[in-house]
Amino acid sequence: MVKIFIDPGHGGTDSGAAANGLFEKNITLQISLLLRDILLSEYDGVSVRLSRSIDQSITLDQRTNAANSWGADYFLSIHINAGGGTGFESYVYTGVSAPTTTYRNALHDQIVRSVDFANRGKKTANFYVLRETSMPAILTENGFVDTAADANKLRNTSFLQGIARAHATGLEKAFQLKKKETNLYKVQAGAFKVKANADELVATLTSKGFDVFVVIEDGLFRVQAGAFRSKQNADDLVARLKKAGHDAFVFQ
Ligand SMILES: [Zn+2]
Repeated sequence: MVKIFIDPGHGGTDSGAAANGLFEKNITLQISLLLRDILLSEYDGVSVRLSRSIDQSITLDQRTNAANSWGADYFLSIHINAGGGTGFESYVYTGVSAPTTTYRNALHDQIVRSVDFANRGKKTANFYVLRETSMPAILTENGFVDTAADANKLRNTSFLQGIARAHATGLEKAFQLKKKETNLYKVQAGAFKVKANADELVATLTSKGFDVFVVIEDGLFRVQAGAFRSKQNADDLVARLKKAGHDAFVFQ
């Protein structure tokens, strides 16, 4: 079991950086909760704790004490930058070596590869949470609230989802996390660039008694008619859809 301690920066009376109507404490919490959900729903063998899961004031030593007494394998502090600038940077404690540096490389490289942020580089600092944690630790600074271009990205939940996912994939690489085996056979009845077209198909299929829903994936509105553990059940549903005059196929 790999124990990941996630520390959403700031909280409660400490807003962190604030600009453009954004508060650092809220964004760090959103990213942290999304990251926790991805780790727990998509990976086996990972256990997650947060220093806070609500808007709450906690001190720096409460954060590091919680991680130390839990015996976390990794401490990940999530922050948003301010002070003029743009993009992503990460910090480890001054003078540390492997495995802290190797873990940092895995996260940093993944984040700058998959998130639309300029790469400000891999940095070191004598930050309290990096110094007082007894396990490898990283602090990520995800964009600037006081730079309009970054703020506009940080306002967008799907962008925050992308930041969370990049952290998750970085952790997967650093700790060789294993993806859960889902093995679901899904039935797709259509995929559209325009939401109205997907909604129209949903209405038609619903009127014919099919239980369908829309999944947004890769910018497409996919009309999904079911998800089954048994391939036979998925094939049967495809046959029923075809009989009703609709094209459909099974995918995993
Ligand atoms: Zn901060």
